[in-house]
Amino acid sequence: MPDNPFRLVPAVAKVLDLPAVADARTRHPHAAVADAVRAEVDALRSLIAAGHPINGQADPDALAARVVARLELVAKPQLRPVLNTTGIVLHTNLGRSPMAEPVAQAAYSAARGYLNLEMSLATGKRSSRQDPIRDGVKRITGADAATVVNNCAAATVIVLRALAMGKEVIVSRGQLIEIGGSFRIPDIMTVSGATLREVGTTNITRIGDYEKAIGPNTGLLMRIHTSNYRVRGFTKEATIDELVALGKKHNIPVVDDAGSGVAVDLSAFGLPGEPVVSEGIAAGADLVLFSGDKLLGGPQAGIIAGKAPLIQKIEKDPLMRAFRLDKMTLAALEATLLLYRDPAKAIREVPTLRMLATPLTELRERCRAFAARLLELPTLDSVEVTDDVAYVGGGSLPDVAVPTCVVAVVPKGMSEEAFAERLRTGTPAVVGRVQGGRWLLDLRTVFAEQEDELLAAIRAASLVSGL
Ligand SMILES: *Cc1c(COP(=O)(O)O)cnc(C)c1O
Repeated sequence: MPDNPFRLVPAVAKVLDLPAVADARTRHPHAAVADAVRAEVDALRSLIAAGHPINGQADPDALAARVVARLELVAKPQLRPVLNTTGIVLHTNLGRSPMAEPVAQAAYSAARGYLNLEMSLATGKRSSRQDPIRDGVKRITGADAATVVNNCAAATVIVLRALAMGKEVIVSRGQLIEIGGSFRIPDIMTVSGATLREVGTTNITRIGDYEKAIGPNTGLLMRIHTSNYRVRGFTKEATIDELVALGKKHNIPVVDDAGSGVAVDLSAFGLPGEPVVSEGIAAGADLVLFSGDKLLGGPQAGIIAGKAPLIQKIEKDPLMRAFRLDKMTLAALEATLLLYRDPAKAIREVPTLRMLATPLTELRERCRAFAARLLELPTLDSVEVTDDVAYVGGGSLPDVAVPTCVVAVVPKGMSEEAFAERLRTGTPAVVGRVQGGRWLLDLRTVFAEQEDELLAAIRAASLVSGL
């Protein structure tokens, strides 16, 4: 090493002229190439400054190769398809619901051309972008009017603003939820200009507690589904029927935040505890709110269904313009709702429902067949099929451990953490669970047609040079 190791680092201009880098300039913008060169040169300087040996890293060929690799990486979209092998169907970090093929096609067509977003083709006159989704929402909820915004958080804000600004909203202390991503009911009340009036206790709230809190400034009675937690033990909650009766008596609207938005009863599949979105309306609630991308299995959206005069008031709120859905999402939501015309068809074709409804026996068979293919890979130390449990995710069914079957994999020559990282950063990216020294693969969240590419990704990630 020379006296001054920094002299080993070539000048930026020199690197730019290296043949491989000059060649990259024909494919990448000049500024991006210059940025990549500077980043690599800086990285070398930092290594030296930290006292690390740089070995051959300053050699022109090696440096040029790293510059080109960096350029290829930044030229690729950061959002990439992921194979979800966690078994968590509504994985918020992986985009919650994957959508059915006709739904994805609807979004694709909406994206790549013009469409009658706000025009009636029959009359040529202006229409509302909400019109195409109203029928589908009315069908699944039984409500007589509906509108949609960006997500259920936005739905809550706009409902509180439009119906309860400057007024009190009565909520049970047991229902003051926080959903991931800083959605907290007390804060949402504040930003909406409504005043939270808490009643009852964490575990017991009776209908009488609501009634006692009603005063001249009461704007709404609100029930909030405790999507991501359950209060167990000695508990009592007012039922929606009781709330509706109380609302009627005092002429105060009742809002039901159902959260997960399941439109078909999932208790037959061992998934009890999520309110079906038609329940609240059937009971006489004035409005029901729910997400589009949780158990409904559609795109991100906040669906508001209920009495027509309230929906009209909400649509007149200035925030409606800020919260409105874009054309791709609207097209996807309409297509999702069409799948629900036949509930049996929805269970077969809405991927979220289909995955949740997959029987354990079927999963076990797929698991065994896939494990047999993995066993042929010489780069894996062990492959074992075992029963396990998974959670639904996405802030729903928090205490339902869904029985499932996993393939537990131990790679050769690397830790399970290193293996998981290689899988995450490969193409396609694979995200699984690491547990007890093994990498677990749950096929519930893998589509059958993805199994070949999953196998290839596992093979590639388990290859270590020198083994
Ligand atoms: C998930 C959830 C929300 C927030 O819905 P997003 O669509 O994620 O914004 C609000 N309320 C309840 C009860 C929920 O479960």
